[in-house]
Amino acid sequence: MLTPEQKYLAGKLRNPDADNEWKDWRWQIRHSIRDIETFEQLLDVRFAPDEKTALMETVKRFPLSITPYYLSLIAREDFRNDPVFKQAFPQAAELIVTHYDMPDPLDEDSDSPVPGITHRYPDRVLFHVSNTCSMYCRHCTRKRKVGDADFIPDRQTLLRGIAYIRDTPQVRDVLLSGGDPFMLDDQTLDWILGELRAILHLEVIRIGTRMPVVLPYRITPALVAMLKKHHPLWINTHFNHPREITASARQALAMLADAGIPLGNQSVLLAGVNDCPRIIKRLVHKLVQNRVRPYYLYQCDLSEGLAHFRTPVSKGIEIMESLIGHTSGFAVPTYVIDAPGGGGKIPLVPQYLVSWSTHKVILRNYEGIITTYKEPDSYEPVFCDRNCDACKLSLNLEEASECEATGLQKLLADYDDAISLVPRDNDRYQRRTLHKPNEETTS
Ligand SMILES: *Cc1c(COP(=O)(O)O)cnc(C)c1O
Repeated sequence: MLTPEQKYLAGKLRNPDADNEWKDWRWQIRHSIRDIETFEQLLDVRFAPDEKTALMETVKRFPLSITPYYLSLIAREDFRNDPVFKQAFPQAAELIVTHYDMPDPLDEDSDSPVPGITHRYPDRVLFHVSNTCSMYCRHCTRKRKVGDADFIPDRQTLLRGIAYIRDTPQVRDVLLSGGDPFMLDDQTLDWILGELRAILHLEVIRIGTRMPVVLPYRITPALVAMLKKHHPLWINTHFNHPREITASARQALAMLADAGIPLGNQSVLLAGVNDCPRIIKRLVHKLVQNRVRPYYLYQCDLSEGLAHFRTPVSKGIEIMESLIGHTSGFAVPTYVIDAPGGGGKIPLVPQYLVSWSTHKVILRNYEGIITTYKEPDSYEPVFCDRNCDACKLSLNLEEASECEATGLQKLLADYDDAISLVPRDNDRYQRRTLHKPNEETTS
């Protein structure tokens, strides 16, 4: 059953067999809205000439594509305030580049050992398997790349990526991303997943896709049957607003969940779209009703063209304050900033630890109650030299291949002698090198 809005759009798109074709994902992609004029025509709106010129300039820099399905979610009477419109339709403000904006704020290209792979964390990699999307999110962090013909991964590139994963035994988790991996046909995706599954050290495969949000008809019985063969497979999707969880989206999510695929959701905090504790709470409740676990809430990245979407970090903290304790623990996402310069995701949590003595910890809860937790009277610390045979915990790890400790974990580890982490360009350490050129200055 199509909604009245969908019937109206189908008619405008001269769709003779609305009920069947409308739900055909390839029809949706063929009829995606890629220019301002078609948008005006379909939504019965007119932009002023100045605005239209500015919009067309924006589209030249950052491509426009909206599936008829996603377009049908826009409330036409007040479209300028519509959360779907704001995520899908360009704004002239995208061309404003502020001093802090960067084309690649997460340094994904610098951490790329072979084209298409970003290897940032010790045990997992991002694998860009597609460069296109059915809908181009205006808030995309990879705006510089998507839709650009120069970045389309061909079979050769995909093979090199797969070879890198095969040759890198510490990679136990691969995250297929893009673009949208579900833009690939089932056969290609099946081939990639099969190649990856054959790698013994690879424990899990994840797919990041926005299809359940912008083109739920892509989730077909055939796709799901194919995915099921490659377990353990996890999927993360990207709902930002409760309005996006429609009957069609719910059906797509149910098909994936019924196939035993654990579902997560990553939202981005966006000014004018979802920067409101009530909207986010409604969103996470609808997600868990549909068996989707809210995973991350992202602070908007410093990518070029996103300045108008950014909220202060305080807004995110305020939202987290409204969720933690107030609702089901599994409905609460982790609020993160993806560190500019490629530091990875950094979690941000409101402050709950109020104070601390050797005997007691003072905490506050979500209601504002100040409480104490009594530390144990005696606790015998165990020195860990990573010799599990001699450890009374008897946690013999069979052949577990561990990565060397890094960061604060390195400072905490008993078996590592490092006592400090020193920035590479610390002046004082550089002076030491100048005065005693032969001495080692850092560990
Ligand atoms: C987000 C991300 C991952 C996955 O991180 P998780 O916290 O495990 O979800 C991996 N690699 C890169 C480059 C990422 O940005």
